[in-house]
Amino acid sequence: MGQALEAIVIVGGGTAGWSAAACLARFLAKRPAKIVLVDSSTIGTVGVGEASVPNIHNFNGWLGLDERDFIESTQGTFKLGIRFDNWRDRGSSFFHPFGKYGVGFEGIDFHHCLALARERGQTPMLADYSLPIALARGERFAQPVQDARSPLTDYGFAFHFDAGLYAGRLKRYATERGVTHLDRRIADVRLAENGDINALVFEDGTCLQGDLFIDCSGFRALLIEGALKTGYESWQQWLPCDSAVALPCARPMGDLSPYTVAAARQAGWTWKIPLQHRVGNGYVYARDLISDDAATSALIAQMPGVPTASPNYQRFTAGMRRRFWNRNCVALGLAGGFIEPLESTSINLVHRGLSILMDYWPERGVDPRRAEAANRHFELEQKHIRDFIILHYKLTQRWDCDFWRNASEMQVPDSLMHRIDTFRSCGALLQYDAESFKPESWLTMFNGFGVEQESFDSRVFDIDVLRMLGALDVIRQSVAKAAATAMRHEDFVAKFCPSLSSGPGQSVAQNR
Ligand SMILES: Cc1cc2nc3c(=O)[nH]c(=O)nc-3n(C[C@H](O)[C@H](O)[C@H](O)COP(=O)(O)OP(=O)(O)OC[C@H]3O[C@@H](n4cnc5c(N)ncnc54)[C@H](O)[C@@H]3O)c2cc1C
Repeated sequence: MGQALEAIVIVGGGTAGWSAAACLARFLAKRPAKIVLVDSSTIGTVGVGEASVPNIHNFNGWLGLDERDFIESTQGTFKLGIRFDNWRDRGSSFFHPFGKYGVGFEGIDFHHCLALARERGQTPMLADYSLPIALARGERFAQPVQDARSPLTDYGFAFHFDAGLYAGRLKRYATERGVTHLDRRIADVRLAENGDINALVFEDGTCLQGDLFIDCSGFRALLIEGALKTGYESWQQWLPCDSAVALPCARPMGDLSPYTVAAARQAGWTWKIPLQHRVGNGYVYARDLISDDAATSALIAQMPGVPTASPNYQRFTAGMRRRFWNRNCVALGLAGGFIEPLESTSINLVHRGLSILMDYWPERGVDPRRAEAANRHFELEQKHIRDFIILHYKLTQRWDCDFWRNASEMQVPDSLMHRIDTFRSCGALLQYDAESFKPESWLTMFNGFGVEQESFDSRVFDIDVLRMLGALDVIRQSVAKAAATAMRHEDFVAKFCPSLSSGPGQSVAQNR
């Protein structure tokens, strides 16, 4: 048995670094380990990241950070899902909600019942059986309730928020619990004789030693790549966007949608994310097909207000670090990889990575078997997400420009092709371990892009079809009724959790 870890060093003070610091401060509260976070105010953070998936509830809940506190301190709003405009073809639109559709009938999955109804000449729309979609259509929001009599009211939701303010809130949480913060620029990383990381070397020549290093240094990947040369698996052949420009604008009064809008464009896609004090906008694009200037102009042309900052340009290569845990170093956030922001999975992967790290925590020194298990687990999670994102491109039926034509014609990973083929053949929604996106999310995509299932669960023929059709009607009406009684999202936020410096156009500086 080795020695218990005594010194944990986190490099980077972005969302990833402060998430790690807060999580480890909570996790190690009863252990003697000392946690130090090093960042550099001369380098700064990536400065984007405004949308999440529902898993953020688990992370904040684990810390004991309640929803109201989170929303108030991050200028947050509620997110029921994403509206995808122009993805299938120009003028099309569908919604990806965080929640199931309808209710199964006599043990048969709901989408098979819907398929049978269609075969019997009915024209039910999947979206009419989702309460989050009905709420979003009316720009409304309601907290889900767990009511055994009505599974329809049990759905997920996430948040839109200012990731910089979130990092600030986590910093307060971590430093109040004993994490030491050092503002120093790292000039070098010193390795021990066995190849592990031994110490950080700062510009002034001083050093900081550690037992375990968490690399949250962003795209620079100072430790995991710079020092340990771990290697990077690129997914650019499937995810060709390699650039983004982000540009916030003031939020027009009355415009506070409880969803993200992701709109397909000539060489990529744009996002629109409403926060309390501003609207976040961005264009994610392939630079060989559109210039930075043209992408910025296209973005500005569809923004709901005038820009309130200069364009923030980012370059990236979609992919993942070959090992998330290498020797005594674990990479989180952009240092560990990036799968482009289409389904807001990056901060989620930071939190998932932390959860896996705790599962395999090196209590008495690094055991390569634990690192291997963690690596396999995290790799699976990332690859499932990768496949889900690639699906958004592969299924397009847009042939009006090179970007989309190439996407529809590309060869996708076998793992993804297998899912598509299986759904086409019999409507089965495959689900594996370590999946962030549940069957209903895959169903949303297949339905949204018009992928038909050629047959369905054969047990559907045993049910009483007339009763099933009647049940479908009841569900559709209940959804519409429940949505109509909910508050408008803007009123909900104003009433329950206005930000500490609330109101369109206000400065966020007061919140830090
Ligand atoms: C265009 C775009 C849109 C995105 N949208 C979303 C989204 O909607 N939802 C989502 O979940 N995620 C999104 N992300 C990802 C999200 O922004 C990041 O995952 C998240 O902010 C974490 O970043 P980070 O902490 O890894 O890196 P950074 O924020 O870049 O932080 C890096 C840190 O390392 C420190 N550092 C670097 N070098 C040194 C050095 N030599 N010495 C000392 N310190 C150093 C810096 O000071 C900084 O503190 C988006 C990313 C991009 C590029």
